[in-house]
Amino acid sequence: MAISDYEVDLSDEEREICETVHRFAEEVMRPAGKELDALEDPADVIAPGSVLYDVFKKYQSLGIDQVSMAGTDLTPAQQARIRCITAEEMGWGDAGLAISLGVSGFPRMLAGLSGNPELVERVSAEDRIGCWPITEPDHGSDLIYYLKHSADVPGTPNCTAVKEGDDFVIRGQKSAWVSNGTIATDAALFCSVDMGDGKQGSAAFVVPLDVPGVTRGKPLDKLGQRALNQGEIFFDEVRVPADHMVINSDMMSFGADMVLSAANGGMGSIFVGVAQAALDLALDYAKNRVQGGVPIMEHQSVKGRLFTMFRKVEAARALNRRAIHTNTLQAPARLEMAIASKVTSTNTAFEVASEALQIFGGNGLSREYPIEKILRDARASMIEDGCNEVLGLVGAERL
Ligand SMILES: Cc1cc2nc3c(=O)[nH]c(=O)nc-3n(C[C@H](O)[C@H](O)[C@H](O)COP(=O)(O)OP(=O)(O)OC[C@H]3O[C@@H](n4cnc5c(N)ncnc54)[C@H](O)[C@@H]3O)c2cc1C
Repeated sequence: MAISDYEVDLSDEEREICETVHRFAEEVMRPAGKELDALEDPADVIAPGSVLYDVFKKYQSLGIDQVSMAGTDLTPAQQARIRCITAEEMGWGDAGLAISLGVSGFPRMLAGLSGNPELVERVSAEDRIGCWPITEPDHGSDLIYYLKHSADVPGTPNCTAVKEGDDFVIRGQKSAWVSNGTIATDAALFCSVDMGDGKQGSAAFVVPLDVPGVTRGKPLDKLGQRALNQGEIFFDEVRVPADHMVINSDMMSFGADMVLSAANGGMGSIFVGVAQAALDLALDYAKNRVQGGVPIMEHQSVKGRLFTMFRKVEAARALNRRAIHTNTLQAPARLEMAIASKVTSTNTAFEVASEALQIFGGNGLSREYPIEKILRDARASMIEDGCNEVLGLVGAERL
């Protein structure tokens, strides 16, 4: 059943978008995610001929622009709802691929702030793949603070852009955790900046990665979201024009709020979809698995556990819809709402997937069944884009 089947008042245009994305999630993302997850060597995920590239191409051919909703007649409120439903569907399809496709739009989103049409055009071309490098070898969770309070850089940054004449020169590296880092053509780079006049802080740049001085690390091998390629990006004297800095130090606190709100809200939607996937699978299994002469759904405790899972998914969904609605319709974004949604959805996805695995019994542990993969995917999300407990501290600053 598609997620939009539960919506009572979708317009024809909204319903058509939802159905298109549901088909894509079911027919393209599910099988591709399973295939990529099973690959032993993460280098094979990005090897020429990998199904990953078919997923990108087919997604682009849908013409659904999650970033701008360009080409639709939707009101802002409708756009907010469609963003949620389509991202949920994609998470339902495959978490790692949903993140890969979602983060790919980040350089385009940032380029929109530059006022430079050529840059926007360059990063919007069909064959471009984006990434969002923030995390550094010596800086993880602390970078969330570091971005928001740009004067208080803790320790030494591993990646710095220095103003030299009309350009910035980028030196250093980002960590192995950069999603799409091994294949991206463009980066929405958040890093330390030195304006050459003694003024330091942090800033955001759009950096085309097909320029001299950019090299990559090897693909990261990890527990979950294995379809999501990740790897280091090294910058050796990488020169970009000054107008590629799209958020300067003075605007960084505001800019970080905006980008983190978009990212956390999107994560909230995707992991509602992951939780829904686990619930759907558990329900189906419980109705069909006959043990002791009856389907296990007939056991009261199984029924009760499934209802608790349903209740948690709907609660996470309601919070996500409210967070995205608020942050689409009003500025500045309320980061605490987006964080509340990210933390709730990812914790819910993990809890529901864990309970679903329990309902599958021994089969839940088997790689022949889909549930152990969903549990691994959900586990990764509690660290992704900031550990949940640290995000909670950032959100608390707003209360
Ligand atoms: C699937 C996935 C995708 C990712 N994608 C990207 C990406 O696209 N781009 C990118 O740049 N990064 C990405 N990351 C990296 C991610 O944002 C970092 O892993 C995360 O911010 C945590 O940083 P860390 O791993 O260095 O952990 P650390 O910051 O070293 O934290 C380790 C532990 O210490 C705790 N801790 C740290 N500081 C505090 C504190 N102040 N108070 C209390 N506890 C604290 C944490 O909660 C955690 O339990 C991704 C990560 C994952 C798992």
